[in-house]
Amino acid sequence: MPAPKLVSPTGKDIMLRPVRANAGVEAAYNKQLQRWIEMMHRSLIYFIQAQYRANPPPSLAQDAGWESFRDGSPANAMRRAMHRMSRRWMKAFDKGAEDLAKYFVDKAAGATDVQLKDVLKRAGFTVEFRATYAVNNAMQAAIGENVGLIRSIAQQHLTEVEGLVMRSMQRGRDLGDLTQELTQRYDITKRRASFIARDQTNKMTAVINRTRQQELGITQARWRHSHGGKQPRKSHVEASQADSGKGKIYDIEKGCLIDGEYIWPGELPNCRCTAQSIIPGLEN
Ligand SMILES: [Zn+2]
Repeated sequence: MPAPKLVSPTGKDIMLRPVRANAGVEAAYNKQLQRWIEMMHRSLIYFIQAQYRANPPPSLAQDAGWESFRDGSPANAMRRAMHRMSRRWMKAFDKGAEDLAKYFVDKAAGATDVQLKDVLKRAGFTVEFRATYAVNNAMQAAIGENVGLIRSIAQQHLTEVEGLVMRSMQRGRDLGDLTQELTQRYDITKRRASFIARDQTNKMTAVINRTRQQELGITQARWRHSHGGKQPRKSHVEASQADSGKGKIYDIEKGCLIDGEYIWPGELPNCRCTAQSIIPGLEN
């Protein structure tokens, strides 16, 4: 049964406080991703160092006979060993991705419900949220997207590491240089995972919030720019200043027309803008 539509009991519109992404959910997701990446990195470093010592690149080897990369050369031994190692780590990420994505999506959706309930309560409305088709759909889509992203973290990292190792072999570079490059790559992968955790928490909060509000018959919102972002988009600040500083009104279903496209707050990378939803007054 659909929830009853909300209407302001007075003639005036009620503005709801924005629902923000839950920092605890983001931190928990990020922490788990970082843990997996660290395990993968440590294992790769250990393995690559052992392999590198056992199969040094031609120019570092004592044996002058290793001038080519024919089968049986150190480069080929290394390549095969790296493939095996990559497959093993890809499998490990594959195995855990679904559970972690489900855990995250569940927590993010739950936290959004709790916060929206609180926002509505402060505005004078008591609601109960139930599992609905639309929310379930949004959650399933988010699980799929996050499984793909989690897998891509391992995939990109392993591809880059394989490339670094093989180039290092070909150029006859020493293990110290290679280890330094691997550590730099590790930092890039860690930063990417943090970005994914933050971005996905924002998106998940926004989509669940939007779906819930639509179910409650809330159809319009005002665009609010938050001052948290480092480099705010000029057009987003302008949308927030529209209508004498109250923020541009838009249809929640369609999104807000900014820079020629319909978007929702928090949808673009690093956008910290939020929505202030409108519960219409009786007369509207
Ligand atoms: Zn923005």
